[in-house]
Amino acid sequence: MEADFSSNGIRRRGLMLVLSSPSGAGKSTIARSLLENDKEFALSVSVTTRPRRASEIEGVHYHFKSQRDFEMLRDSDELLEWAEVHGNLYGTPRKPVEEAIAAGRDMLFDIDWQGATQLREKMRGDIVSVFVLPPTMDELLARLKRRAEDPDNVIETRLRNARHEIEQWRDYDYVIINDDLTRAFKAVQAIVAAERLRRDRRPGLFDFVAGLLEEKPE
Ligand code: 5GP
Repeated sequence: MEADFSSNGIRRRGLMLVLSSPSGAGKSTIARSLLENDKEFALSVSVTTRPRRASEIEGVHYHFKSQRDFEMLRDSDELLEWAEVHGNLYGTPRKPVEEAIAAGRDMLFDIDWQGATQLREKMRGDIVSVFVLPPTMDELLARLKRRAEDPDNVIETRLRNARHEIEQWRDYDYVIINDDLTRAFKAVQAIVAAERLRRDRRPGLFDFVAGLLEEKPE
């Protein structure tokens, strides 16, 4: 039984919002704003073999795993999708996602295009995908350097990979150019608001309309 979280109290399925972009395009900031401002969203916390950054908390930003533990999860089918990104493995734990969607809760995925492709194949009707583009490549590099939490060689790898990531933009439902964070965030909120109202996501409408038509206005 799906929970009742939607507008007008009408039962709906949870939304799976996938945000992708090259590193440094501002996707993580948009994701954080969404989680802070929209309590219907929970973040899908990925597992990764990447070393933890100083600012990151185990279980909040990622579940940090050894290569061996990651492979065990993957091989026992506990990951909904997984991919190698910048030389590290990343994956989405299956169980929290399935539970959230069934309960009518929305889930946010900060994953790359390879993960987005796999989720689209597996959960077609539930996925809404948004690609965030930087306004210029100069701006992208500046943002990567400003973050300065990664060593120089990591920044170089990420910039090289950014081109390839950007080439995947066509596969996404929505594309946002992040030249202004507030505007970009508002665009994501608008997408979410519209997608929550989609007819095929709201099985509760059948009962609502049936009830409406039974009413006998004076
Ligand atoms: P970072 O190391 O900067 O946190 O993330 C690097 C890239 O990996 C980002 O593009 C991020 O979206 C992606 N990523 C994070 N978690 C996952 C995941 O579970 N699956 C996939 N496919 N990509 C992920």
